[in-house]
Amino acid sequence: MVTPSTTSGSAALFRRAHSVTPGGVNSPVRAFNAVGGTPRFIESARGALLRDVDGNEYVDLVCSWGPMLLGHAHPAVQEAVVAAVARGTSYGTPTRPEVELAEEIVARTPVDKVRFVSSGTEATMSAIRLARGFTGRDLVVKFAGCYHGHVDSLLAAAGSGLATFAVPGTPGVPAASTAATLVLPFNDRAAVEQAFAEHGAGIACLVTEASPGNMGVVPPLPGFNEFLAETCRRHGALFVSDEVMTGFRVSRSGQWGLDGAREGWRPDLVTFGKVMGGGFPAAAFGGRADVMGMLSPEGPVYQAGTLSGNPVATTAGLVTLQHATDEVYAQLDRAAGIVGAAADKALTDAGVPHLVQAGGNMFSVFLFDESAGDVTAVTDFAGASAQNLDRYKAFFHSMLDQGVYLPPSAFEAWFLSSAHDDAVLDRVLEALPAAARAAAAV
Ligand code: PMP
Repeated sequence: MVTPSTTSGSAALFRRAHSVTPGGVNSPVRAFNAVGGTPRFIESARGALLRDVDGNEYVDLVCSWGPMLLGHAHPAVQEAVVAAVARGTSYGTPTRPEVELAEEIVARTPVDKVRFVSSGTEATMSAIRLARGFTGRDLVVKFAGCYHGHVDSLLAAAGSGLATFAVPGTPGVPAASTAATLVLPFNDRAAVEQAFAEHGAGIACLVTEASPGNMGVVPPLPGFNEFLAETCRRHGALFVSDEVMTGFRVSRSGQWGLDGAREGWRPDLVTFGKVMGGGFPAAAFGGRADVMGMLSPEGPVYQAGTLSGNPVATTAGLVTLQHATDEVYAQLDRAAGIVGAAADKALTDAGVPHLVQAGGNMFSVFLFDESAGDVTAVTDFAGASAQNLDRYKAFFHSMLDQGVYLPPSAFEAWFLSSAHDDAVLDRVLEALPAAARAAAAV
């Protein structure tokens, strides 16, 4: 059990961090701004466990927000990375590991060619530039609640009414940057039809999370991605599937392996990140050969990066994917089922209105007020926003106090790894009933 006195090391670092870094963190959600309390400064991690600077241990259900598919410090990844570092860490030239990682990605996914970048943000930013360059059009369609990184044009909140242009979602983004963005409700075919009917000839691309995990887990309704691909095709727009989070996580071929591969359609462009970097800053965008052929130096659309395809990062990604076997995905699916079912039971027993919703092996827990009644599905951002956030806060802190590290926000997915074995899962299952009771008491 963690007590306040045992987080003094984290608290001291957080104070120091505040004087040199805005909010004390380098990415906002890490500050526990949504849940309060002292963010844990992690010193080391192995397998499914995190250890903070005060020596507290936590079962990690965040997994670096997705990348650590094989768990922390996986021996094979670690060995390959150490060997890569010994050969020098960056040359600014083409290297063998980036060719091998690209081949692995092309073999697993619907892309013909792939270009490496250093973050998911860069991947979506570049994919949109490429879509605009290829189509000669400017408009971009996105869905409310989908996050694609901090790209200006995608930090957009819905304007008033459907099929109207978006307003910036943050200060610092000029209205001109979101003026070419349409924000629609997720899973809403009628809204998509209307937007394309009104603006189809000007739409460069529609970008969507392949299965959203950034408003909590809100999977596409059956056939929705296929419908999007088909709608884009009919209007000469590109369908950009953002698999930064789902890629190589929900299946060996990402979300496309769960829908497109079976239904027989392909996105025009796909963005990747997280798992494919094996815990290093690596991401990618890829797609149809004719579209990717527009990219510099083959074509006129400029894009570049000093550390793109970095040999250490691509080595880590390659070895991670080589170990991401069918058995790993079966194990992750099973573990996600066990934790999701246990959370569901604990919350039912405690009388908390809730929904445990899964998209492949990603899942999240929505906690509601009594007035919400029996919620059987959350299909869009409005539904996700109906959560009682104070209940999640109480649930989160109870789990943390019992040594389980959940996402410090109710709008995030829970992530497991192949290192989450039965002994680790038992620790999560033991903690859930008290956390559910804490949520019930709010
Ligand atoms: N797309 C999706 C679907 C994501 O989940 C994220 C990050 N969580 C990004 C893009 C941005 O990636 P990055 O944080 O590496 O810039």
